[in-house]
Amino acid sequence: MNNLSIIEQLKTTHTATREQLIFLLKNITGAEREELRQAAQQTAQAVFGNKIYIRGLVEISSICKRDCRYCGLRRSNPNAVRYRLTPEQILSCCEKGYALGFRTFVLQGGEDGFFSDEVVCGVVREIKRRYPDCAVTLSLGERGDESFRRLYAAGADRYLLRHETADLAHYAKLHPDSMSGAERQRQLFVLKQTGFQTGAGFMVGSPYQTAENLADDLLFLKKLQPQMCGIGPFIPHKDTEFRDFSQGSLELTLTLLAVIRLMHPRILLPATTALGTIHPQGRELGILHGANVVMPNLSPLEHRKDYAIYDNKICTGDEAAECIRCLSVRVQRIGYKIVTERGDYH
Ligand code: SAH
Repeated sequence: MNNLSIIEQLKTTHTATREQLIFLLKNITGAEREELRQAAQQTAQAVFGNKIYIRGLVEISSICKRDCRYCGLRRSNPNAVRYRLTPEQILSCCEKGYALGFRTFVLQGGEDGFFSDEVVCGVVREIKRRYPDCAVTLSLGERGDESFRRLYAAGADRYLLRHETADLAHYAKLHPDSMSGAERQRQLFVLKQTGFQTGAGFMVGSPYQTAENLADDLLFLKKLQPQMCGIGPFIPHKDTEFRDFSQGSLELTLTLLAVIRLMHPRILLPATTALGTIHPQGRELGILHGANVVMPNLSPLEHRKDYAIYDNKICTGDEAAECIRCLSVRVQRIGYKIVTERGDYH
């Protein structure tokens, strides 16, 4: 096997076998990574030109009934500061965001019982009524088939639910016994069937992860064919049992972004905040490896630091307007431009 020929094959056929993916992930050299990067960047530019889509992220609740072992907001963390935005606060974040040019709002949060279908549907309907030209993305965890149908009927356009790891045994090491990787994957297929533009994704370098696991993540994406994919490095949180594990590597995350771009030329692929957290130019590097989305934070300043899923998260002290200005400059410096279109999947 030869990495340059695997890269060429990824570029032309958008596929690779499990063995090829494992080989590439284990053996790629610096020079080969540069080949891969250029191929991914060209592929993204052929689809999106130099446009970068922005999504306004509103972190609506740090309250969560789940106990994911890696997450700082896990139920059993007594040190987590819990907050919940009111529907009025969420709408006021959107109002600010709209004025700044955002045309997608992402409502993300822990699995907080306050946000019943009735409450979320009410918020979604009101956002769509006020801003009919905007897309609403939800990222509220596993809610089940009927809930997804109601949210879609209320007007939500997209749903993000990372599969976290496609390997069920690995999933079991990252989550409590009450959670199941098979159920999470099933819900992703339901989301797609319901009509959502659906986003899957995984952490890179999570505890116990192997190259085989990552190859299976890539093959799972091939099977699901999501419209969006969020990946970022695992970053330990001090109040979790994974506090002493090392963070995911920059190089591996960038390699995976590039491979995902080649396997899914049109996929909406963010350069995530986690990537920006482990390296000062992480998001720019992500874009240069095929990412085409950034998700600046629109959450109210007073709660920013409390949506602490991992340690040292960036942009917790900046107003939304500052974040967007900073990002605009950053993407311009590398030859891209932020655009204010909805940025749907085509
Ligand atoms: N409750 C929602 C939103 C979770 S936060 C849900 O379950 O979908 C969004 C993502 O952050 C998660 O899907 C996970 O992949 C990521 N994340 C959580 N803890 C992390 C950590 N310690 N390091 C890196 N990413 C993390």
